[in-house]
Amino acid sequence: MNTIKSQFPIFENNPDLIYLDNSASAQKPKQVIDALTDYYSKYYSNINRGTYDLSIKSSQLVDDSRKSIQEFINAKYAEEIIFTRGTTDSINKLSLLLFFNGIIKENDYIYITEFEHHSNILPWQNIVKMTGAKIQKIPLNEFGEIQLDKFEEMIKKTGAKIVSFTGLSNVIGTIQDIKSVIEISKKYNALTAVDVAQLICHSKIDVQALDCDFISFSMHKLYGPTGVGVLYGKKELLERYSPVDFGGDMIKSATFSSCELAELPEKFEAGTINIADIIASKSAIDFVSNFGYENIQKIENELIKYSFEKISDLEKSIGKIQIIGYGKEHPEKRSGLISFVLTGISSFDIGNLLGNDKICVRTGFHCAEPLHQSICEGKPSIRISFGLYNDKEDIDKFFASLQKNIQRLI
Ligand code: PMP
Repeated sequence: MNTIKSQFPIFENNPDLIYLDNSASAQKPKQVIDALTDYYSKYYSNINRGTYDLSIKSSQLVDDSRKSIQEFINAKYAEEIIFTRGTTDSINKLSLLLFFNGIIKENDYIYITEFEHHSNILPWQNIVKMTGAKIQKIPLNEFGEIQLDKFEEMIKKTGAKIVSFTGLSNVIGTIQDIKSVIEISKKYNALTAVDVAQLICHSKIDVQALDCDFISFSMHKLYGPTGVGVLYGKKELLERYSPVDFGGDMIKSATFSSCELAELPEKFEAGTINIADIIASKSAIDFVSNFGYENIQKIENELIKYSFEKISDLEKSIGKIQIIGYGKEHPEKRSGLISFVLTGISSFDIGNLLGNDKICVRTGFHCAEPLHQSICEGKPSIRISFGLYNDKEDIDKFFASLQKNIQRLI
């Protein structure tokens, strides 16, 4: 076992495991698991309400976690970090905030791409249903890159209330020019929201340098616990909006007929939040910070190049494989994953057979059906996605099993 894997107990308990489904969720380092058990064993209590030591300590640990995420994405204020259940929850919350606060109305334009995860399409469809607003497709090329000139032409004509797009698609894996998209959007007074659920696992996010209004991500993909997401929003915007969830912990005072809202961030965190997982999220942030994005990219980019060599070898025996997005000529234009289509072979069957060999990859549409409809005639794909613990041996085992099982199915 490589030394990085040895920091992840799952590999010790499953010595044959080949885990290449990191875009769906990443495994957890021991320090994250320890933080969870430590917290439940030593400090557990509810936060913000108690006058006793355990509650004061728990509240402090949640504050520490918020602060560490603030620093990690270089947000100006800790109050700009709103804890949610995950990226899906963050984008739903954002879309509802813009609806209930009257920002998006009938005939307004919402710009998204066709290559989004469903969680950045369906919430906006819902807003369209409620308001009569319109969704406009941001123009892309076949590799999933936003066509900046065409985009500017369109937004100049229609205007937009929000431009919401992913920094890195969970299927095509193309690195996007986020900064330019944000700059153009701002020129036409549109709000900007970037889904960095995938991107933040491979690249540094600096919200001040990007000057984006909102970002969303999930801790479980970033080696942290499940059930914790972040909605970052600029303070001046969040301060202006009324919340969409109401109840305990989000008010200063209440009468039977009205309430006075709490300040940020509590205003947007009604009820008991996911205290233990939020606290353990700090350990995941520490882990990734100490490991360093440079090292993550070095490992993963090497695996991308190596996987393309293996795909070329496989093509010698089974013929051309359709790669979704940039191919072997431009490995530098992608990050973290490779998806491809095996024509004439059931992706469900191949996924099961790989699973029998203890190889975890994703087959199907990866919650991005419009992308598959647009790019590969609605055929499902196989996705291998890399984490910082993967190595060439994982790739060798995956391709050996794939080749063997393809022969069984054809
Ligand atoms: N956006 C992207 C780009 C994703 O890859 C995912 C998860 N596959 C999501 C959003 C949704 O994340 P979650 O399921 O954690 O809410």
